Amino acid sequence: MPTQAHIAIVRLLQAGKAKYVVSGNHDNLHLKSGVLPDQIAELFGNAYVERCVQCSKRYYRHTQVPTHLRLGRTCDQPSCNGRLVRTGKIRFDTLKSLVIPLCFVGVRFGQLIPEEPLANAYHHAQKADLAIVLGSSCTVSTIPELAMMAPKSILCTLQETHYDNRFTVSLKSRCDRMMGDILAHLGLAIGTYTYTQQYLVEASLLGVENPTQGGKKGKVRMEITSPYPNEGCTCIESAVVSLRDGKELEMEESKTGFELEFSIPLDDESEKEEEVRPNGIRQKDEREKEKEEEERGKGEKEKENENNREPRSCWCSVTVRYRPEWGSIEPSMVVIEVPGLSEEDPIQRIDRVFVKEVPYE
Ligand SMILES: [Zn+2]
Repeated sequence: MPTQAHIAIVRLLQAGKAKYVVSGNHDNLHLKSGVLPDQIAELFGNAYVERCVQCSKRYYRHTQVPTHLRLGRTCDQPSCNGRLVRTGKIRFDTLKSLVIPLCFVGVRFGQLIPEEPLANAYHHAQKADLAIVLGSSCTVSTIPELAMMAPKSILCTLQETHYDNRFTVSLKSRCDRMMGDILAHLGLAIGTYTYTQQYLVEASLLGVENPTQGGKKGKVRMEITSPYPNEGCTCIESAVVSLRDGKELEMEESKTGFELEFSIPLDDESEKEEEVRPNGIRQKDEREKEKEEEERGKGEKEKENENNREPRSCWCSVTVRYRPEWGSIEPSMVVIEVPGLSEEDPIQRIDRVFVKEVPYE
């Protein structure tokens, strides 16, 4: 999650007090906190961003791009079809020219920085009235050298650096604290940060099994995926399917999220009721009425079920546990009903949103 300092930067940008961000990190925390792509130069790329080698289009993902050298993904721009590469780790084929950057900001030997973000950083550093360097060890000289281009500069970090004497002000302090003080001085509120990640829960009926013993069974495939292409469900640590008989099945982690195939007993109760009733037409009307009522109250019913944690008229439920790094958030339960277990209407997709609220005040 972004720190208080990350959020403070966003507030300064929103208030027009800060103009541009130059980052040496590739952890995506600036974009995640709300910095817009044209407000930042990420000198060493971003582990959440892929770039097309043909047309340079950038793809901003909600999850980290896998570290395989060849992703096997291609650009979706019409008539491009170029190969996508990670940007979080600089490789030689992403570098066009190192000559100019090496001259003007003294990039250390072995530090490879692509031309475009460095040119943007240089452009904004030239115009700056004040540059603030946060939490940098200054071992990579690019960041302090860029800051030196502004008439006034502040370095805020806990450790001693070779650049301490060259800044206008050098503070040995926590960035969160200093940025909080700056916001307070300007009368700006830091507020609450809300992070959301979406995922889909999908159940599909693969078929009906009719074993000699134990009654009919439905074969169900359950999947939890991201609604976005090439992304997984990073907020989810594990997912468990609970059946009505109390059995619990751990879902398996897949390339795109979680998946599991399992059999569940078919509920024949409705059929039995129908057999007992004498009037077929009346029975049909009643069922339609019930169905309508069910449609209307679906949202409430789902909430109700979630609160009670007791699936009643449903086939199974999925309980999703979130990764601890997203904060202590209660597991959420999704009740899955495979309607009528007919193969004409086999799929139910349920959109879920993971929401984490961080109050910074
Ligand atoms: Zn392309």
